Amino acid sequence: MATKIYAGAVVTMDDAENIFRPGVVVYDATGILYVGKPEGYTEPVEQELRIPDGIVLPGLLNGHNHAAMTMMRGLADDSPFFEWLTQYVWPVESRMTPDDIAIGTYLALAEMIRSGTVGYADMYFAVDRSAEAVEKAGMRAWISRGLVAQGDPGLEKLEEGLEFGRRWRSRAEGRIIPMLGPHAPYTCPPEYLERVAEKAKQENLGIHVHLSESADEMRQMAEQYQKTPIQLAYDAGVFASRTLIAHGVFIEESDLPYLEGLVGGVVTCPVSNAKLGNGILPYHMLHDAGVTIGLGSDGPTSTNNLDMFLEMKAMAWMQKVRESKPEAFRAYDALWAATRGTAAVLGHPGGILKLGAPADLIVVDGKRAHMTPEWDVVANLVYSAQGADVRYTIIAGRMVMQEGIITTFDEAAVVQEARQRAQRLMEG
Ligand SMILES: [Zn+2]
Repeated sequence: MATKIYAGAVVTMDDAENIFRPGVVVYDATGILYVGKPEGYTEPVEQELRIPDGIVLPGLLNGHNHAAMTMMRGLADDSPFFEWLTQYVWPVESRMTPDDIAIGTYLALAEMIRSGTVGYADMYFAVDRSAEAVEKAGMRAWISRGLVAQGDPGLEKLEEGLEFGRRWRSRAEGRIIPMLGPHAPYTCPPEYLERVAEKAKQENLGIHVHLSESADEMRQMAEQYQKTPIQLAYDAGVFASRTLIAHGVFIEESDLPYLEGLVGGVVTCPVSNAKLGNGILPYHMLHDAGVTIGLGSDGPTSTNNLDMFLEMKAMAWMQKVRESKPEAFRAYDALWAATRGTAAVLGHPGGILKLGAPADLIVVDGKRAHMTPEWDVVANLVYSAQGADVRYTIIAGRMVMQEGIITTFDEAAVVQEARQRAQRLMEG
């Protein structure tokens, strides 16, 4: 069943940076059937939406998340990092049940669908429950069971991660892609990283790992192994599989040879990096070296909000601050990172509106006061828009949010249950 959307603007994110004003997108469950000027498509369709004030763009892809951590949103926010993690987050996390994780994931899904995210890369535990929520909500997700080898060899967790991969790789109409998630080099010793890398290669799974996020991590790895986290991962064979490197704030020039030819890329999480006081991604150094850069939020306990429009702003602002000049980073490049950049890191054909691409698109309300006037539609999308301006979210040709209403699950019930469950977690 084909649907046609006529909108005031269609931002394609294709290589020619085409923007049609007005424009039309036609799609069905198999993908995009047409993108272009309204007069270019005359075939009959089953459903037609006319949104003259709407801006259509590819759905946003959040390249790094721990979605169920919505349950700890706002917990001891302004504490020093290791105190926050060990004295607040880990004790609450140890009390979280698989049901808490399911509801926490639904809460994140509601927030993501509302703010125009159509897919996300996740790392957490009780991942079957997250995957079930993703399947029901109609979302796309690249899910990895977080792997650590601290206090125990971590082999059971690795086996769980592999089993999850086997169980889910062909479910949910291909909307769920399992990955392996070795947490970081400070929680996964080199022998463990090697083992994970070997299994990833054997079972053809991508790897999702935190690398070079904080100055403490850099110091610790230098003291313990006389290596940078990037060099450690390279030496362990991690980069032999597609690798999603979360953060990368402290990647150095001397790391670049290890990243040459990397399949995958770096996902920057500017709000988390700012809030945790970590720093700013060396975007230009990586970009000039040919490293693909995507955009993500990190978990909602460090970022507080899963709005990718906020992440795009933060990415642009922080690069301008880093380079001390406004021309150092274009709004378009932030939008590219949030769409095609993350897609390229994940090896996903989405993030673009073109014939045959997945039918993953969103419609932003362009008639709001803060979106008026429209000298430059991309500037408005990146610098003015907010997630709450998204009116329609379409994933794999299915309208999962229509005129601001989530159609795939009961959002109000999820919010209510999340409140009750968080109350129990707060009481200890
Ligand atoms: Zn993270």
